Amino acid sequence: MQQEITLEQIQNFEGKYPKPLWYLFFSEMWERFCFYGMRGMLTFFMVNQLLMDEKVANLQYGATQAFVYAFTFIGGLFADKILGFRKSLFWGGILMIIGSIILSIDPKNYFFWGISFNIIGTGFFKPNISTMVGALYKQGDVRRDAGFSLFYAGINIGALLGGYFCIAIGKGELWSSIIPETLRWNVAFGLAAVVMAISLLTFVYTRTTLGPIGLSPLKAVNDTDGDGKVDANKQWYEYAVYIGGLLAIPLIMKMVANTQYTDYFMYIIGPFSLMYLFYEMSKHSLAENKKLIAALLFILFSVIFWAIFEQAGGSLSLFAANNLDNKLFGFIKLDPNGVNNAANSLFVIIFAAIVGIIWIAMAKKNLEPNTVIKFGLGFIFLGLAFYTFYATRFFANAQGMTSLDIFTLAYFIVTLGELCLSPIGLSIMTKLSPARLQGLMMGMWFLASAYGQYVAGLFGASIVSEVKNPTAMDKLISYTEGYKQFALYAIISGVILIAISPLMKKLMQEVK
Ligand code: GLN
Repeated sequence: MQQEITLEQIQNFEGKYPKPLWYLFFSEMWERFCFYGMRGMLTFFMVNQLLMDEKVANLQYGATQAFVYAFTFIGGLFADKILGFRKSLFWGGILMIIGSIILSIDPKNYFFWGISFNIIGTGFFKPNISTMVGALYKQGDVRRDAGFSLFYAGINIGALLGGYFCIAIGKGELWSSIIPETLRWNVAFGLAAVVMAISLLTFVYTRTTLGPIGLSPLKAVNDTDGDGKVDANKQWYEYAVYIGGLLAIPLIMKMVANTQYTDYFMYIIGPFSLMYLFYEMSKHSLAENKKLIAALLFILFSVIFWAIFEQAGGSLSLFAANNLDNKLFGFIKLDPNGVNNAANSLFVIIFAAIVGIIWIAMAKKNLEPNTVIKFGLGFIFLGLAFYTFYATRFFANAQGMTSLDIFTLAYFIVTLGELCLSPIGLSIMTKLSPARLQGLMMGMWFLASAYGQYVAGLFGASIVSEVKNPTAMDKLISYTEGYKQFALYAIISGVILIAISPLMKKLMQEVK
């Protein structure tokens, strides 16, 4: 097939956003629908349908999340070396569809099979679509961060819709008159499969707009038409990755079902990824290595960020259930857990593009803060948000019930922090990594999320009230005390980042 668009043409776009960004936006939006739809159903389904003990379900939920993000490291690595971003994404998407179909056919008996397909599939899909967004921009293009902010809004539209619809269908709160009770969960998981298929079709039908971006690194020397044909002698590498991915599924299944393996896995994958990175660095120049060290520092800081941020799925959801009233502005009746699950995504959707446009406007006046300062700000906002969660205790009544308004305000501030760090983090990974390590570094960025999730669980568990049979007031006091502590960690991290920004700038060289 004739390759019509060149990289030059893509990267020399006019206006705020490159056109293929919109296609990647939609593919990622639907993929996140599937992912967050599934994530939103997991714990509830384990407890209510598989009749698991709550503690076990929580641990297994944590294991799933850790594995999902840990596998992005492996998915990124194989994309760099063998498959290229496009084939990785396609293969990951297929696995996610198969996983969701398995769950829709018989979620009770094949639960861990379905989940494991989704874990491996996400590993191949998630880092590589983000890397392709980065490839749409030239080095030094000031519009890159804004592009990632927009892409991030897509992520959250998918997260919000999937998070809401799937569980609501499964529980019978939506469309119960047309879906027979016995089939609700099948339909809910089936919806994730359909939506994932939409994601993949969007990608397949628009992939030619990506020109040469994401083709296999094993391109044949005689690939004159630029369609990314792979050298025939190396074709088997590809098949080996596909087969390896499939063989990993039963293994993952065992490991998620027995959560002590998750601990071992987490002990191994981090040091292994670092060792591998150092090995790769030995093949790169000093200037490239300095940038990689800077990327690694961003990654390490992000573990702290996610460990605090991810209280959302753990301690904050219990806090919402135990200590919050259900009135927003005094008259809008809302389920506090619904607010806990949706507020962050909603705020991202509303503010991501605005924040992106602010960055572009500031860049035009040469006022845009560099990435280190943005990261630092991300932590400062996170800290202020957790002080706000702490402050809910001053609005509590005698029974320990406190204000949903203040809680929602805290989520608004958390979101500002997330917007200074998460899309910017994706963007900086693509700026600081040499072409051959783009997927790997994006995978390591998400691996930090895996560790963040993991530590978040430990943090959350550490602030549970020690009192026997605690009242709502006891719980309020112990959780909010913990949030004050987390706020301090966040502020300290932000201050350290800003203080080391001159050193970071040196490591980053011309990258801003
Ligand atoms: N919410 C974002 C996403 O799903 C970021 C997740 C993360 O890196 N922890 O892509």
